[in-house]
Order: sequence, then C-alpha cells, then structure tokens
Amino acid sequence: MHGEVRSAGQSELQPGDIIFECPQCGKSLAIDVRGAGYIVRCPECQTEIQVPGTDTGLGAAGGLSEPATPPAGESHATDALLAEIDRLKHQQALDAERNRRISAELALIQAALDRLVGMLESTPASEKD
Ligand SMILES: [Zn+2]
Repeated sequence: MHGEVRSAGQSELQPGDIIFECPQCGKSLAIDVRGAGYIVRCPECQTEIQVPGTDTGLGAAGGLSEPATPPAGESHATDALLAEIDRLKHQQALDAERNRRISAELALIQAALDRLVGMLESTPASEKD
C-alpha cells in the first residue's frame, strides 16, 4: 500500500506527513506524503476519504492537483498591446497634425471655390441693370 493513514493525534508524525481531517467524523488524520491523492479508509469511521494533495509537486495520482497556471502570458501580451497602442497614438498624433494642415488648405480652397461660385452666380443679376 501507499503509506498508511493513522490518527494525527499520535506522536509518530513524520516531517512531511499530510495532516487532514476526515470529512465524515472530523478526526485528524495523518498519512505519508506519498499518499497524496489516494483514497484511504478512515481508521475511525471506515469512511473512504481522498487524501488532499500537497504543494511539493510529488505527482499525486489523485485528481486533487489543480493546474495552477496563472495567465502570465496574458499580461505580457497586454503590455505589448499597450505599447503598440501608444506607438499608434503617437503616429496618429503626427498624422493628425498633418491632416489638420491639409484640412486647413482644403478649407481655403473650398472657401475660394465658394466665393468663385458666388461671383459666377451673381454676375448675370448685377448686369441686369
Ligand atoms: Zn472518519
């Protein structure tokens, strides 16, 4: 067997032992660290219990080892994205300045055209007299 579950109240605890409670009777139990994830039988009430896993990465056979993978790459990607946005904003600011000048020139041309059209349209009327 893989380690033996026993009452945790006794003095025979090993350094590394997993201490857990029986969910059925609440008794404190201890088992060798290699028993992590295994199904054991509570010596007190005979209930089958799954031994909780540990953080020691001992490859427990049980389904208790959570895939603790924080989205580390995500924040990195976000940083890169923010940098790219900053770059585009800067580029856009330059473009905006250029566009403002072009718009100003276009406005002058438009105003000149409007005046020209006004002159052409008003010419016959003023010649009426
Ligand atoms: Zn129990």
